[in-house]
Amino acid sequence: MTANGTRPKGLETNKAKAIVDAAWKGKYAIAAVCCYNLEAIIATVRAAEAKKSPALIQLFPWSVEFADGLLLHAAAEAAAKATVPIAVHMDHAQNPDIIRRSADLGGFDGIMVDMSHYERDENLRLSRELVQYCNARGIITECEPGRINGSEDGIADTINLDEVLTTPEQAEEFVALGIDWLAPAFGNVHGNYGPKGPELRFDLLEAVAKQVGDRVRIVLHGAHEDYFQNELLRKCIGYGVAKVNINGPVQKTFIRVGAELIGKEPLTTVIEKQTDAMQKIIEENMDWLNSSGKA
Ligand SMILES: [Zn+2]
Repeated sequence: MTANGTRPKGLETNKAKAIVDAAWKGKYAIAAVCCYNLEAIIATVRAAEAKKSPALIQLFPWSVEFADGLLLHAAAEAAAKATVPIAVHMDHAQNPDIIRRSADLGGFDGIMVDMSHYERDENLRLSRELVQYCNARGIITECEPGRINGSEDGIADTINLDEVLTTPEQAEEFVALGIDWLAPAFGNVHGNYGPKGPELRFDLLEAVAKQVGDRVRIVLHGAHEDYFQNELLRKCIGYGVAKVNINGPVQKTFIRVGAELIGKEPLTTVIEKQTDAMQKIIEENMDWLNSSGKA
């Protein structure tokens, strides 16, 4: 927000915001697919077009650093050319420098300002400053009050930090920063769940959703493919979740198909089969998230 409390111009026409707002109103959720390469970007667009579903292409800071923004520009072009609504979002940007650099590159519709590895006051202070920086460039933001535990490729490991579940009070503090999306910690973890599986605090999710109301959209992280299939995803949507990050199953599929075929088939065939297999996984998730047919 600006000093006088109004939001900068550009946010009301933001594509990522429109996509997730429509999902929340229509009681479905958007697959935000973590992409590490061009094949995953192509698979996401093809899945979205095949299923007539909106989608988000999600990149980690790693890709901006590794490819100096080239993958971002490819993602933005793919999103612009798609026949269904697709936007580009940065997942877990965890330091101020990468957030400013990513916002200045052009191409991101949204950025997750993730300062959750800091303690509460510092998290809020840095988040406030960076949300304003992104908003001034027409980019919406996602924040993580509390702390979602675990690790995933491309982000800082929080395994040695205490898990902090998100309270309605904390959620309110972040809404006040002018964020558009909120990723609550309610027992969800990144990567693998323990032997008991997910122990989700739906009472907490419900309280957070009630607190934020229609002001921000709720995002689910830690949707491990062993557990988060049709039934559990629909349950989360019932509590107001409108965006679900899909990471593990897509990259695991890429690696598995590569391991099976590299050295046996021409490289072009390997790439095509990897892309096809990722598309299939993404399509399945779109069905579970009830976004198929909604574009
Ligand atoms: Zn996450």
